Amino acid sequence: MPPNYRSWGLTDVGLVRKHNEDAHLIDSDLGLYIVADGLGGHAAGEVASEEAVYTIRAWVRRERPKVVGLIQNPYDEDLQGQAQRILEGAIQAATYFVHAMAEYDETKAGMGTTTSVLMLLGRVAVIGQVGDSRIYLSREDQVAQITDDHTLIAAQIREGMITAEEARFAPHRNVITRAVGSHEYVEVDTRVVETLPGDRFLLCTDGLHGYLETEEEALEYMKRPLEDGARELIDLANARGGKDNVTVVLVEVLDV
Ligand code: CA
Repeated sequence: MPPNYRSWGLTDVGLVRKHNEDAHLIDSDLGLYIVADGLGGHAAGEVASEEAVYTIRAWVRRERPKVVGLIQNPYDEDLQGQAQRILEGAIQAATYFVHAMAEYDETKAGMGTTTSVLMLLGRVAVIGQVGDSRIYLSREDQVAQITDDHTLIAAQIREGMITAEEARFAPHRNVITRAVGSHEYVEVDTRVVETLPGDRFLLCTDGLHGYLETEEEALEYMKRPLEDGARELIDLANARGGKDNVTVVLVEVLDV
C-alpha cells in the first residue's frame, strides 16, 4: 500500500505590507504542493506568483500520468529522471508565461516570482526550486533544508567569501539570483528524495524562514498537529516583526 499524505497551508499578509504577494497551492489528488513569492510593484508580484502556481499545476496535471509507475517502482531511475524533467518543464513553462505577460503589459514589467514545488508519488518526493523560498524535511528528530537558496548571499557562502553568521546580518540578503519570469528562461534545480512514514515537509517563503534562527527551530513546529504548526509558524513570524508576507505549507507522510 503506497503512503498517503495529509497537508495544511496558511498565508498571512504580515504586519507591514498592504498586499500579500505570496501564493500557495495544495492539490492532494496530484500530490502537488507549491509556494511562490512574487516580486514587482503595483500588484504585479501577486499576478506573477498566482500565474506561476496555476501554470505549474496545469503542466503537472497533464504530465504526471507518465510517471505514476513510481508509486509501484520507487527506485526506477528512468522514471525518477522523467519526474524531475516534468517539474523542470512546469517551472520553465511558468517562466515563459510570466515573462510574456510582463512584456505585454508595462505595468507588470520586471515581475517575477520564486517557487518551491513538491510532487509526491508514493515513496518518492520530487522537488523543483527557483529563488529563495524553501523546503525543509523533518524525520524523527532531524531537520534539513532540502532546497538551495538562489541568492547572492548563498553564492557568497558557497564560495567561502562570508560565513553563514555574517550572512544573517548582510544588507543585501534578499537579493535573488534566479526568478520565474524575470527572463524568458531560468535554470531550475530538481532532485528526488525518498520518503518514510512520519516524514514531514515544510514549504515556506522568506517571510517565515528569514525569522528562523536555526533549522532546528522549525523542527519543533513541524512535529505538531499540522493546523497548529502552520498557525504557530505564522504567529512566530509576526511576533518577530512580520515585515513580509508569510506562507507555510506542511505535508505529512502517513503510514498507509
Ligand atoms: Ca517574501
